[in-house]
Amino acid sequence: MATTFDHGGGVRSVAVPIPDNPLGHTLVHVVETDRGPVLVDTGWDDPGSWDTLVAGLAACRTTVGEVYGVVVTHHHPDHHGLSARVREASGAWVALHPADAAIVRRTRETRPERWYTYMAAKLTAAGAPEEHVAPLRTPRPRSLPGLSPALPDREIVPGELLDLPGRRLRAIWTPGHTPGHVCLHLEEEHPARLAGHGRLFSGDHLLPGITPHIGLYEDPDDTTVTDPLGDYLDSLERIGRLVPAEVLPAHQHAFTDAPGRVRELLAHHEERLAGLLALLAEPLTPWQVAERMEWNRPWGQIPYGSRNIAVSEAEAHLRRLVKQGRAEAVTGSEPVAYVAV
Ligand SMILES: [Zn+2]
Ligand SMILES: [Zn+2]
Repeated sequence: MATTFDHGGGVRSVAVPIPDNPLGHTLVHVVETDRGPVLVDTGWDDPGSWDTLVAGLAACRTTVGEVYGVVVTHHHPDHHGLSARVREASGAWVALHPADAAIVRRTRETRPERWYTYMAAKLTAAGAPEEHVAPLRTPRPRSLPGLSPALPDREIVPGELLDLPGRRLRAIWTPGHTPGHVCLHLEEEHPARLAGHGRLFSGDHLLPGITPHIGLYEDPDDTTVTDPLGDYLDSLERIGRLVPAEVLPAHQHAFTDAPGRVRELLAHHEERLAGLLALLAEPLTPWQVAERMEWNRPWGQIPYGSRNIAVSEAEAHLRRLVKQGRAEAVTGSEPVAYVAV
């Protein structure tokens, strides 16, 4: 049985499960158009998830074969995982922002060993202890999920309307969670006439009860010093200014008062940056920063993979502080340590 929601005005959603993940499910939004339904995201690539999507589309009185197009908010496997299967079953086009399409291309071309080598070097540079880095030098032969994501057929052009005959769905580029994350603004009056401007499919950018992971844009081939947290905070403000009547995110549930939620998230990150700055009274490596930052559980209980994500998040916050001129790298330190200015 699939859980579906009718949001009115020809928009429904299907809760597609993400196996073994505390997030639970991805909300795949189904937008009616004159040429057939267009999906916003597709869900995790797993046989059970696929069956739920198929059953959910039937409950929405359509079929997977009728899907006209797929708009993907970002490349993560809980959003883009089933895109290839939907395209196979329907001939639908698949659209992604070029920055995330580049990641998809690279993921398909990069051998897992290259990733392990890159991660090992990166973690060492961040000050990770040898016992944490060692397993990456002798990787177990296992396949990683999402290693051959679908190449998109179309590019999402920021600011332009997407090909949804009979509807107005505009792409808003919201980098931060990934470099090519987009929100989709349905520029139509709210079906229940709620105050505000249309509805916003927010992907992972704006969620009602959780903050998305903001780490570094990991790219073994690119040494550009990016500022993903800065990108994210800018993108948040942009979304707040749209004042959508309702937000339909990819996880949890639909909600109103987007500007209020944006303010909460901006305050949360400012608090986090201020807390980090206080820690930097003494020079610390990104690893040491991650150990001292507040997470949803004590550092000692954070599993291996999540520690890597935490270090990436610590680095994103450090980059922001450096960019703001509130912290700097200690000259000659190796691994590099940061200190408050
Ligand atoms: Zn994501
Ligand atoms: Zn997600």
